[in-house]
Amino acid sequence: MPVPTRHGRVEDRSAAAPAADRSRVVVAACGAYDAATVAGALAEVLEAVGGMGAFVQAGQTVLIKPNLLSPRAPDLAVTTHPELVRQVILQCVRAGAARIWVGDSPAGQHAEASLWARTGMTAAVAGTPAVLMSWHTKQMPLACGTDTLAVPEWYSEVDVVISLPKLKTHALTTLTCGLKNVFGIVSGQAKAGFHSTYPSPQAISAFLVRVYATLRPALTIVDAVTAMEGNGPSNGQPLFVGVLLASRDAVALDATACAALRLPAAAVPMIRLAAQAGLGNLEAARIECVGSGKDVLRAARLRPSVARYLRHIPEPIFRLATRLFRLRPKIQEPQCVKCGICTEACPRQAIHERANSGYPVIEPATCIVCFCCMESCPRGAIAMDLYFGSVLRFARHARREVRPGDDASETDH
Ligand code: SF4
Ligand code: SF4
Repeated sequence: MPVPTRHGRVEDRSAAAPAADRSRVVVAACGAYDAATVAGALAEVLEAVGGMGAFVQAGQTVLIKPNLLSPRAPDLAVTTHPELVRQVILQCVRAGAARIWVGDSPAGQHAEASLWARTGMTAAVAGTPAVLMSWHTKQMPLACGTDTLAVPEWYSEVDVVISLPKLKTHALTTLTCGLKNVFGIVSGQAKAGFHSTYPSPQAISAFLVRVYATLRPALTIVDAVTAMEGNGPSNGQPLFVGVLLASRDAVALDATACAALRLPAAAVPMIRLAAQAGLGNLEAARIECVGSGKDVLRAARLRPSVARYLRHIPEPIFRLATRLFRLRPKIQEPQCVKCGICTEACPRQAIHERANSGYPVIEPATCIVCFCCMESCPRGAIAMDLYFGSVLRFARHARREVRPGDDASETDH
């Protein structure tokens, strides 16, 4: 699949690196976020994958891509911890990188200075040659199957991508880790549009696999020191896990991370589809898992998202099922600061300002349950509700006990 490389040359990066017969995944114990502990765990994972020099050559331009979903403090576990970003920068310096760029395109329209400051990225690059990159710049199109992605024009100068995801549960894709993290290279507003085009878990998973193939990183290092459980990726609870994971193969990496959720990797559509596409290894027999943190990872118990059952719903009945089960984002007014970012992020214009209070309100009939609003909210003010009241209402409609249209009075707010 064609991707641009340094100075606009185009190579087929996915075809050049087919899945190996066996993939190595390194899991290093990492008990805290202090510099010495993270540096030690990072040294362990890098040594086991051949050292940073196996990925970064002298004179190259490196993009370090953490998960910066929204401007939240590092201890909330929404974003990749800045200490890991800083230690990876220092490793790239030692490997001789000419330019080290750091950044991510968040969900929603956030001021970049605020994003960098709140997530600790400003401090992470301080005193290093690394530069925080803006996505508010000239864009270029990038072919991705039948879709066209928009990425910053400077991406054409990147030689090596090092992906630094945060391990989190995810409402639509079950988990967000190595495969999904590269979607953040795509510009924020364009991302929301794809949720509208591919609204179901199956459809968005297939799309994300194509994005991964297009933007495939050289190396993925996962921050799972503190992960997120429950209603991830933005509104769950932090849970200490205590490991870093790394691999060249993000399919094998995500499959290994499934242990923390007590899930078989093949049950996650995104991982299964990526393996079927030949992008990496899924079966345990084809994954060589090494490192001091293997047992630590297996002992973890991340509580999955309340929406985990969505992945079992066949594509044709997804829309109907989500109406019946009333799975919806829900605005929590006490946390809301009326910033309007969710309104901007919604690809279906399903969020409006309530006339009397100014709080956002969601139109159930227009919402496609993509959760872009939840991901973009900087205050964690959008939760997700799953309840079965609409099944009963549907049955009552069918028996003509409730006139069609009575539902209009019901809001998700
Ligand atoms: S829910 Fe409130 S705080 Fe969150 S993005 Fe929407 S307007 Fe802003
Ligand atoms: S209101 Fe519905 S359609 Fe709009 S962003 Fe939220 S989940 Fe997506």
